[in-house]
Amino acid sequence: MALYVQKYGGTSVGDIERIRNVARRIARTRQQGHDVIAVVSAMAGETDRLLGLGRELSERPVEREMDVLVSSGEQVSAALLCIALNQMGVKAMSLMGHQARVETDSVHTKARITRVDDERLRRAIEGGHAVVVAGFQGIDEHGNITTLGRGGSDTSAVAIAAAARADVCEIYTDVEGVFTTDPNVCRSARKIERISYEEMLELSALGAKVLQIRSVELAMKYAVPIHVRSSFSDAEGTMVTGEDESLESVVVAGVTSDKKAAKVTVLGVPDQPGVVAGVFEPLAEQNISVDMIIQNVATDGTTDLTFTVTRDDLERTRDMADGLAKKVGARDFTVDPDVVKVSIVGLGMRSHAGVAAKMFRLLADEGINIEAISTSEIKTSCLIRAKYAELAVRVLHDGFGLGDR
Ligand code: ADP
Ligand code: ASP
Ligand code: MG
Repeated sequence: MALYVQKYGGTSVGDIERIRNVARRIARTRQQGHDVIAVVSAMAGETDRLLGLGRELSERPVEREMDVLVSSGEQVSAALLCIALNQMGVKAMSLMGHQARVETDSVHTKARITRVDDERLRRAIEGGHAVVVAGFQGIDEHGNITTLGRGGSDTSAVAIAAAARADVCEIYTDVEGVFTTDPNVCRSARKIERISYEEMLELSALGAKVLQIRSVELAMKYAVPIHVRSSFSDAEGTMVTGEDESLESVVVAGVTSDKKAAKVTVLGVPDQPGVVAGVFEPLAEQNISVDMIIQNVATDGTTDLTFTVTRDDLERTRDMADGLAKKVGARDFTVDPDVVKVSIVGLGMRSHAGVAAKMFRLLADEGINIEAISTSEIKTSCLIRAKYAELAVRVLHDGFGLGDR
C-alpha cells in the first residue's frame, strides 16, 4: 500500500463534471488499496476573478485581505470534491491550509512554507479518509491566512508529500507532462519522459509555468519524485527525479520564453569604481533583483549599463530612476518592458561546446537581434524584442532537434 499525493490544477477542477472526474480518479486509487491526499487549486479562472474584485476596490489592495479573498477559491473546490467523493461512497474530508498545518512566513501573497505538521493529515488518513487539502494557502505564526504566489498549489502538494513521506507526488494538469517547450505555443513540442530536478528548476525559473519553481526546489531538497500528468487521460506523464542514467542524454532538454522581463539601461555613467555598486545596492535594498547584466565601455571614459528586472518590479525601478541617475552621474536612465527572455536548458550543455554559438546563429538567421545574454552551467538565455518570442521559441526548438521524432 502506497501513499499518493495528487494535486489537481484549476482546469482539472474547472466545472462540476471535471470535479466528478477527479473524484473518480481518487476513488480508483483508493480501490487499488492506496491512501490519497489530494491537493486542489481553485476552479479555473476563479483566482483571477477574485483578484479582479479586490483590484476594483483599490489600486493597491491590502495584501493581508487579498490573501483572505483569493484563498477562498481553493476552499470551494476542496469542499466540492469532498461532496462528490462522499456521494460516490468514498469517505473524504477536506482540510484548509491552517487545518492541515501548512505553516508559512508572513509575506502575504508570496509566502514561503516553513513547515508542514503532518499530524492532522495522518489522523485523517488513519480514520480511513481520502483527505482533500486546499492548495495555495497556509497560515503564519500569528494565525493569519497567507497564499504562496501564483501556481502555489504545486508547492503545497510537494511540501505535503515531503512531510507525509508520500511515495510519489502526482501533479495532474491540462497537458500530458513536461514538454520540450510549451505545447500550447509550439505544435512540435514533445513530451519528456524523465527530467532532472536541475533542468526542471531552470525551466520553471525561465518561464515554463507547468510547475511552480518553489515546488521543484522542495522536491529536490527532500527527494520527492514528481509525476506530472494529465487528469484527462491515463497516459504516463513526465517523471521529475534526481540525475541518473535513465535520463535521456540530450544536450538541450527544453526551450522556454519568459515575458516577465523588463530591460533597464543606464547611459553615460563615468567609468570608475563604485558606479555599478551605486546602481545595484539601492535596488537590492528595495528587494528588487537584477538578472542579466551587460556593461559597455565607451571611448570617452563613460560606460553604459544594461540589466533586466522582473516586470512586477518595473514601476518601483522607474520610481527610483531619477534618484539613481543623479547619484551615479548618468546621462539617462531608460526602462523598456517590450522584451522577452528566451532560453535553452539542458544538462548536456556542461560537456558540449558550441551550444550557445548555435543558439545565437539560429536567432541571427531569423534576423532576431540579441540585446542581452546570460548563461549558467546548464542554460543560455537571450533577451530579444517581445514580438519575436514565439518565432524564437519555434526556431530554437526545431533547430536543436527537439520536435517530434
Ligand atoms: P494547472 O492549472 O494545472 O496548475 P498551469 O496552467 O499552471 O496548470 O500549467 C500548465 C500549463 O503550462 C500548460 O497548459 C502549458 O501551456 C504551460 N507550459 C509552459 N511550458 C510548458 C512545458 N515545457 N511543458 C508543459 N507545459 C508547459
Ligand atoms: N489558484 C492559484 C493560482 O491560480 C494557485 C494554483 O492554481 O496553483 O495561481
Ligand atoms: Mg499551475
